[in-house]
Amino acid sequence: MAETIEKGSISINTENIFPIIKKFLYSDHEIFLRELVSNAVDATQKLKKLASMGEFTGELGDLTIEVSFDKKKKTITVSDRGIGMTGEEIKKYINQIAFSGATEFIEKFKDKADAKDIIGKFGLGFYSAFMVSDRVVLHSRSYKAMETEGARWECDGSTEFELTSAPKDQRGTDVILHVNEEAEEFLDEFRLKGILEKYCKFLPVEIKFGTKEERVEDGVDKDGKPAYKNITRDRIINNPSPLWAKSPKDITDEDYLKFYKELYPFAEDPLFWIHLNVDYPFNLTGVLYFPKVKNDFEMNKNKIQLYSRQVFITDEVKDVVPDFLMLLHGVLDSPDIPLNVSRSYLQSDSNVKKISQHITKKVADKLQEMFKKDRRDFEKKWDDINIFVKYGMISDEKFYERAKDFALLKNTQKKYYTFEEYREYVKDLQTDKEKHVIYLYASDIGKQHGFIETANQKAYDVIVFDGVLDSHFVNTLEQKLDKVQFRRVDSDTIDKLIVKDEKVESVLSQADQDKLKGIFEKAISNQSMTVTIESLAPDYLPVTVTMSEWARRMKDMARTGGGGMYSFMGAMPDQYAVSINSNHKVAQKILQEENEEQQTRLAKQAYDLALLSQGMLTGPDLTNFIKRSVDLVS
Ligand code: ADP
Repeated sequence: MAETIEKGSISINTENIFPIIKKFLYSDHEIFLRELVSNAVDATQKLKKLASMGEFTGELGDLTIEVSFDKKKKTITVSDRGIGMTGEEIKKYINQIAFSGATEFIEKFKDKADAKDIIGKFGLGFYSAFMVSDRVVLHSRSYKAMETEGARWECDGSTEFELTSAPKDQRGTDVILHVNEEAEEFLDEFRLKGILEKYCKFLPVEIKFGTKEERVEDGVDKDGKPAYKNITRDRIINNPSPLWAKSPKDITDEDYLKFYKELYPFAEDPLFWIHLNVDYPFNLTGVLYFPKVKNDFEMNKNKIQLYSRQVFITDEVKDVVPDFLMLLHGVLDSPDIPLNVSRSYLQSDSNVKKISQHITKKVADKLQEMFKKDRRDFEKKWDDINIFVKYGMISDEKFYERAKDFALLKNTQKKYYTFEEYREYVKDLQTDKEKHVIYLYASDIGKQHGFIETANQKAYDVIVFDGVLDSHFVNTLEQKLDKVQFRRVDSDTIDKLIVKDEKVESVLSQADQDKLKGIFEKAISNQSMTVTIESLAPDYLPVTVTMSEWARRMKDMARTGGGGMYSFMGAMPDQYAVSINSNHKVAQKILQEENEEQQTRLAKQAYDLALLSQGMLTGPDLTNFIKRSVDLVS
């Protein structure tokens, strides 16, 4: 075969693009390997396809892709046994198409602020090799070529290239990178293995990187015990048929759990999962797992991995996955998510929107199905999943509509009710004179224990809303549920929480009530405490300290970033109502006390007890209270 050398210049108008590539991709040099291995996979898949169509009839042989490196020669090589390229094809695909593709890409994005992000994430194909190389050699033999007839292309990162014919034994392509000085970190087994595991873990063709030692059984020793020997095997980096690429009917629960461990080796088992498999109107496969959410939200975010045909793209799935499902784990794979585009484009892309909506629907369907199938089991899971459901209901109208039939309210007796069931359950006793059904709730069953007990004595029910989202969820429910109002159980005295027509008369005259008020105001003498006298049942608490539902919600808003006038509210001191039960015998005892000093002491004692029951008595006040109590009992 006559040796032909062709030297040439890649015709292109712009100046050298390589400095630009290097500059932009500085932080993400490692993706060169993803790009080259993906090309090798493509070339292999194409050959398989030709074989299945009968257009390639030769031996397929071992199609394993191999990545190797040579520290001394400072090279990294990616070899495949795919379709390969003839010299003419190299000129066409590498010199022209790949080069102009890369140039166009750079041109388009070099002035954009987020260019680095985009390019870094989605790569430039073959030319990304020059991020880490002084010189790239491509040695290929096409499946169409005669025995050993190969082509060798070489380029040093300028627009000059050299193409020669060079015999090659095996079909396929070797890409040999002569690693530059700044990129020598990549001539390292650990580093390369890490990159391959990150991006190539689920590529559909086996990828070999080095070897590994394995201990295997080898007959029996002289005592009849099993003997072992070490053997060296190829180290295959990837799992070429990951779970999500299989049909759900072929997968067992164990398979799902095993795959979860493969993705997150250190995580606790998930609660359940959803297998996505859509091919119209867009293509999407994936498995989403519901984890046990820990309070640390940030830790749980960005766990979903996004793939495009089994190539890892990113774990930032914002915009693709609705916000309220960002805490899920798992993988999504879609060739229809436009990859080389900017973030703002992604948000407005109709496929991305549809994908997000589809995921929402699937999640709702799954929850509905679980609820219908096994209500008890669903209730058991509710404490772990309510955070997703509530977030979804707060933020997504459509999801609310789907979830309102299976979302649950849990009460202090740990019983669970759907919205409809709950209204039925409480409406008789908890409807006020305005015909509103009043739902009482507790945000801290320990601290609000006394109030819960008082409510229960009246046979009122109390819902537990102690999650981070619950104050927002209350607002959503008030808007959605007809004629329902929520009151935190400690936001008023029991008769005012649910105002009914019947009224308890005070045993004290108006003059005595005024006098009582004066005594307490003097004893408390605190700007943030407003004293009122109420006529409540004699067995109700003598003194109750509450913060109104309204004031507390404002506070909550300010705390969770409502902004504007809420932040003003946040800066104000807390305002409490102190209500004195004029029908309690303590009130009468105080009034009858003739020694003024003792009268103040008794009032203060009763007030401190109310504070104490709510964990509001601290510091010097607590110390004084204890001293006073000792005096009073002795
Ligand atoms: P892309 O892969 O996005 O098409 P690349 O710049 O990575 O862009 O590659 C350009 C072209 O070069 C490919 O489309 C393919 O035709 C050819 N090519 C690259 N690598 C290989 C390979 N290992 N085997 C065969 N052809 C290849």
